[in-house]
Amino acid sequence: MTRIAYDQDYERAIAARREEILRRVARAAQEAGRDPAEVTVMAVSKTVDVDKVAAAHAAGYTCFGENRPQELARKLSLLAEDETLADVPFHMIGNLQSNKVNMVLGCRPTLIHSIASPALAATVARHATARGIVQDVLLEVNVSGEESKSGMAPDELRASFGDICALAGIRVRGLMTMAPRSDARVARLTFRGLRELRDELADAIPAGSDASLSALSMGMSEDYEEAVRQGATIVRLGRIAFDPSFPID
Ligand SMILES: *Cc1c(COP(=O)(O)O)cnc(C)c1O
Repeated sequence: MTRIAYDQDYERAIAARREEILRRVARAAQEAGRDPAEVTVMAVSKTVDVDKVAAAHAAGYTCFGENRPQELARKLSLLAEDETLADVPFHMIGNLQSNKVNMVLGCRPTLIHSIASPALAATVARHATARGIVQDVLLEVNVSGEESKSGMAPDELRASFGDICALAGIRVRGLMTMAPRSDARVARLTFRGLRELRDELADAIPAGSDASLSALSMGMSEDYEEAVRQGATIVRLGRIAFDPSFPID
């Protein structure tokens, strides 16, 4: 066993940032009449190496996200060497191709946020069943309708939701979306749209299914406060968590 070394000054800097982020999350939750404890602040480590993951863990982050299968596997194999980091929860948040599903399942992600089509749901379910596991997943929705965004159109999800809930091998836990960048009003409408879709579909969970829709994964460095006001239970923070020069207010 080894310990992954990290820069103490860097750890202190991002710990202070984390405190400010948590203050802002709490304030946004309270503004919406929500309990701040409902919100998980995930550190998206895709642009940093494991030393910074170790620093972020020491700074208080307890949940990490990666967007590429290969990098998820690489990081987890390095972190496994350090007993303080070997069991840290990692989520898969990025675009997932069907030929990478088996690799991702082998990484035992806590949650896959990016089930972006009914076909991908079926593929993950099939591979998970073959492994004898049940994988927790979120269904990714393209609320804004932007062509560059991945995810199911709301109507596509409405049409396939019952079938997805019925798949053995996956357990639906909620919905995920990405808001268009740099337009606060569109971001707010996107987050609200995801929450409203969740409320609608919650009534459509088939009887006897173990699906739930309690998780709403939405909000990134530039829009997490608005996401919390609109009901986010997981905010996915990359630059604001890891980059000491990213503006925090
Ligand atoms: C990179 C990434 C994030 C974090 O983005 P920041 O703007 O750096 O906070 C969140 N979600 C997904 C899916 C990402 O790929």
